[in-house]
Amino acid sequence: MSKRDYYDVLGVAKGASAEEIKKAYRKLAIKYHPDKNPDDKSAEDKFKEAAEAYEVLSSPEKKQRYDQFGHAGVGGAAGGGGYGGGGMNMEDIFSQFGDIFGGGGGSPFDSFFGGGQQRGGRRVAKGSNLRIKVKLTLEEIANGAEKKIKVNKQVSCKTCDGTGAKDKSSVSTCSTCGGAGSVRRVTNTILGQMQTTATCPTCHGSGQQITAKCNVCHGDGTVRGEETITINIPAGVSEGMQLSMAGKGNAAPNGGVPGDLIILVEETPHETLKREGNNVVYDLHVSIPDAALGASVEVPTIDGKAKIKIEPGTQSGKLLRLKGKGIPEVNSYHRGDQIIHVNIWTPKALNSEERALLEKLRESPNFKPQPGKNDKSFFDKMKEYFE
Ligand SMILES: [Zn+2]
Ligand SMILES: [Zn+2]
Repeated sequence: MSKRDYYDVLGVAKGASAEEIKKAYRKLAIKYHPDKNPDDKSAEDKFKEAAEAYEVLSSPEKKQRYDQFGHAGVGGAAGGGGYGGGGMNMEDIFSQFGDIFGGGGGSPFDSFFGGGQQRGGRRVAKGSNLRIKVKLTLEEIANGAEKKIKVNKQVSCKTCDGTGAKDKSSVSTCSTCGGAGSVRRVTNTILGQMQTTATCPTCHGSGQQITAKCNVCHGDGTVRGEETITINIPAGVSEGMQLSMAGKGNAAPNGGVPGDLIILVEETPHETLKREGNNVVYDLHVSIPDAALGASVEVPTIDGKAKIKIEPGTQSGKLLRLKGKGIPEVNSYHRGDQIIHVNIWTPKALNSEERALLEKLRESPNFKPQPGKNDKSFFDKMKEYFE
């Protein structure tokens, strides 16, 4: 699904003037307008594509970034909310039209789809998004986690089933729009006569009128409540990442579409392991005899304890690697490693017997430091392991 060049989309040359860009877009917006192409998905796609291209090329700053870096320069389609998956939604597009066709609020396309979502001509209210934080341990991040979280939010009123009406007989079809939720009108514009659709002023798009309100929610259709939500956190997430669950936010008034639940990831620091990207770092301390004679030692990993071998003659600062014992990448099979940083532990206090032994060892030529030409520096080792 690679994106087409924005200049190609609008059919203008790279050096086109702002006026030429606007003109080209105006032509396409009229040609592919949903009102002229009802139920035509390819027209809708073209309409959106043109709007996105115009969004970028009409802004001097975005245009410059696009000219320099291409689509990457205006990543996420110009950023900001509402541009899911890189495309623009209809609301954004129509809000642009005041600028294109002039007349601000009186633009001929106003209130086609304005605000909320449109279903069969009816305007449906959307509940607000809800934000929560979820704390995760390193183990949970490594393996993915299922979290059950109690959330306080607006929930649909059970008494009236979210309708806001006292009972069935207190709901009637809107007399202004006959239940359509919208009214049509003919407007004269610079582009000729246009038939436009506006949200019904009586029912605000719901297509229904309520004569008596529900006693519990007072007509809102929602009440304050609690819901336990099961959240499946994928493995590999990191601090500050946001996950979103569609429809798990606040319920909307009058039976509309609920908002989304936005989950902010927080990492709980691990007692002994430190995360470094997808790798996990552990500082191991071994005794002087273990380093000199070799030993088998236990180290913590995110999957529990593991035994590792310390070779005889191990130097302080050596880095060992446990392959695949790190954090998985989100949506990938690749998994980082655990890096073990070996430190040789020097005793801080000695008794007389130990002191005598060490005095003797001090005289032995084998105990004089003899770094070899091939011994890597600390920086070389860091490079090797982290780059
Ligand atoms: Zn109610
Ligand atoms: Zn109405």
